[in-house]
Amino acid sequence: MKAAVFPGSFDPITLGHKDIIDRALPLFDQLIIAIGVNVDKKYMFDTKARMQMIKLVYKNEPKIKVAQYKGLTVDFCHDHGLNFILRGLRNPADFEFEKAIAQTNRKLGDVETVFLLTGPETSFISSSIVRDIYHNGGDISSLVPKEIIPLITQL
Ligand code: ADP
Repeated sequence: MKAAVFPGSFDPITLGHKDIIDRALPLFDQLIIAIGVNVDKKYMFDTKARMQMIKLVYKNEPKIKVAQYKGLTVDFCHDHGLNFILRGLRNPADFEFEKAIAQTNRKLGDVETVFLLTGPETSFISSSIVRDIYHNGGDISSLVPKEIIPLITQL
């Protein structure tokens, strides 16, 4: 079975993440969307809320599981028998950052990273932009999956 993890903060999940996930689905038998929990990082939405949002978007997709983890992504892969890490690339800065991590994960963990290039309609979207707009009372409906809007507004 080809199984991958898509690790990230997903604070919150955006249409940029959704584009990568939807395009990766035909490549894998199972995809675990895993929220990395970093105790030193400040998040806008707590882990439970972020997991709830992703579960809502993919409630009808049996290939997708949602999880949270602490520590190294390669350890998560080994614990769950996953051979692949999925990541999205938006720009050269993403590439430079991801290159070292992917090479390290291959060297230390024997885990291959699969990169999908951002779609032209979603390449400008990031969770931090969404948080900024939301925080300042702006309209985020064109940036995140529509299913999560009611959830976000009641949080
Ligand atoms: P992290 O803090 O691990 O980067 P994010 O939730 O910001 O967590 O991103 C998770 C993954 O989704 C990363 O691989 C990132 O490059 C990718 N990603 C985020 N936004 C986009 C987008 N608009 N297009 C393509 N990939 C994206």
